Amino acid sequence: MEIYENNFLILMYNKKDSNIKEIIKTINDRIIEIANFFGITQIKDKIKIKIYYSQEEFQKYLIPFLYDGKYYDWMIASTHDGNINILSLDNCRQTNSHKDMNKKEYIDIIIHEFVHKFHQLVKGDNKTENAWFHEALATNLSNEYYDVIPISCTLDELKQDYNSVDNRYDISYTIGKYLLENYPHNLILSMCKDEKILEEQAKKIFEEAKLYSQEYLADKSSSSNRKI
Ligand SMILES: [Zn+2]
Repeated sequence: MEIYENNFLILMYNKKDSNIKEIIKTINDRIIEIANFFGITQIKDKIKIKIYYSQEEFQKYLIPFLYDGKYYDWMIASTHDGNINILSLDNCRQTNSHKDMNKKEYIDIIIHEFVHKFHQLVKGDNKTENAWFHEALATNLSNEYYDVIPISCTLDELKQDYNSVDNRYDISYTIGKYLLENYPHNLILSMCKDEKILEEQAKKIFEEAKLYSQEYLADKSSSSNRKI
């Protein structure tokens, strides 16, 4: 295992990894912006990222953390031990679920996990009843490919059983896009730091984002109709 280190992270990788130069360059290009978003200039315990070069090795790490002990093909990254653990891009492409994954998508997953780690650092702990909010920031700040979609669930459903909500990542992305485009940065940061402030704002944000998604999609369909 080789080690790359900067002010924020320690990356463990295999020197035979042909994608590693690009991964390191992209992380370096983007991490400062994300740290700035959360108002972080330095961190005490650097974020560790470990890249796994065999599925068996990754399973061995992951299975003890899974509540039913079941490993699925789509499980390619995890932060269960507090670090970022991810299969190598080549290994991801050997799975059925990620066989078409491109380099951008792969690096965006790492960036997505960084957003969660920085968010946890300003919040001070890992506990939240608002996974939708954490994913709203992670999907947007990582520049992943998600769509604005109609928000068809309730806020209570998002809060109580996030993992059972259909299209939860697109819904979180939609709310996050609205939030980042319309709310002052200092208020968003206060919501990251203090769950009480988030609770006070959540209903309003949710209802506004719902209207926003309807208008956004109506605009999009009327402009595409015009082209025809
Ligand atoms: Zn996430």
